[in-house]
Amino acid sequence: MKKIQVTESTLPTYEDYIEEIKDLWNSKWLTNMGSKHSSLEVKLEEYLNVKNVNLFTNGHLALESVLDSLDLQGEVITTPFTFSSTTHAIVRNGLTPVFCDIKESDYTIDETKIEALITDKTSAIVPVHVYGNICNVEEIERIADRYNLKVIYDAAHAFGITFKGIGIGNYGDASMFSFHATKVYNTIEGGAVTFQDSMLNEKLNSLKNFGMGSDGEIELVGSNAKMNEFQAAMGICNLKDIELRIEEREKIVEQYNKLLEGTPGIKINQSQDHVKNNYSYYPVVFDQYKKTRDEVLEELAEENIYARKYFYPLTSDFKVYRNEYKGHTPIARSIASKVLTLPLHPFLTQEDINTICSIILK
Ligand SMILES: *Cc1c(COP(=O)(O)O)cnc(C)c1O
Repeated sequence: MKKIQVTESTLPTYEDYIEEIKDLWNSKWLTNMGSKHSSLEVKLEEYLNVKNVNLFTNGHLALESVLDSLDLQGEVITTPFTFSSTTHAIVRNGLTPVFCDIKESDYTIDETKIEALITDKTSAIVPVHVYGNICNVEEIERIADRYNLKVIYDAAHAFGITFKGIGIGNYGDASMFSFHATKVYNTIEGGAVTFQDSMLNEKLNSLKNFGMGSDGEIELVGSNAKMNEFQAAMGICNLKDIELRIEEREKIVEQYNKLLEGTPGIKINQSQDHVKNNYSYYPVVFDQYKKTRDEVLEELAEENIYARKYFYPLTSDFKVYRNEYKGHTPIARSIASKVLTLPLHPFLTQEDINTICSIILK
């Protein structure tokens, strides 16, 4: 029986990658912001349609570092319907997460519930563009302006997405993108921060390199989070056919939609107005369906097909965070108990999708 994974990494051709890394054997410059690193930053600024990109060895350290760079204090409003990384990045910066509920419609932070959570300790909002569904960026900006808060988006799922023709990384003060092997676009492991204020660049460069300033002085309590040249080379290669990969994903999503749409008890993801999507995930919510989410997961696994309970549990229900932080999030809790992300990657065939859907609908 053919094994179908929830995701599969995209690679360039072997020859293309070998060609790209050849000059590293001459330069012997393997990391510390070399030529591949600079080249990829420029290419990504262009592709993501943003002013500033700063590369990191992974998305998590990119998020941790950008939160650090903005000198935040006290409380940060965020959601628990996300990957562990979002909440960890807040807590590891000595900040207190305050959990806001999400919307049933698109699983992003419910912007109408943010203001009630703002106190004199609040310094920032960290919303998540869940599954590539974008947050209400305009309303969040209005709230942030009114209360003088920073906004840092977890845009790990949102590579290449535009809203009203503008790169999604232009919203808020900064956004974090993940280039992990399992994401729409990968640099093996990797990530980036996009940001508005160009002055932040030097600080991010320092934070990812042990706090070292351009004069060699250690001026910040930094980390080591640099993207190496082999990662950057992979990124340069994978960027060449990213549009094609996204189109292949779109076709798969269309076929899933065709087969599942209108089934009572099955809620599929809705496309958003003015958004060019990247088709990164295929979440399905089983609500009063003839089978539970867990039964569907199990029946698929019996056929060697692996879907994922993503996101379950809520980060606020993790052993380390349980009962630690404020937040009443009934919608997030309900969605987490019913959602399954189905296999989605460019290498799935029409037949694979038919098989998956027939098991679900059986
Ligand atoms: C993947 C992911 C991250 C972390 O990115 P890495 O590159 O794996 O460190 C953070 N947030 C969300 C929502 C993610 O999906």
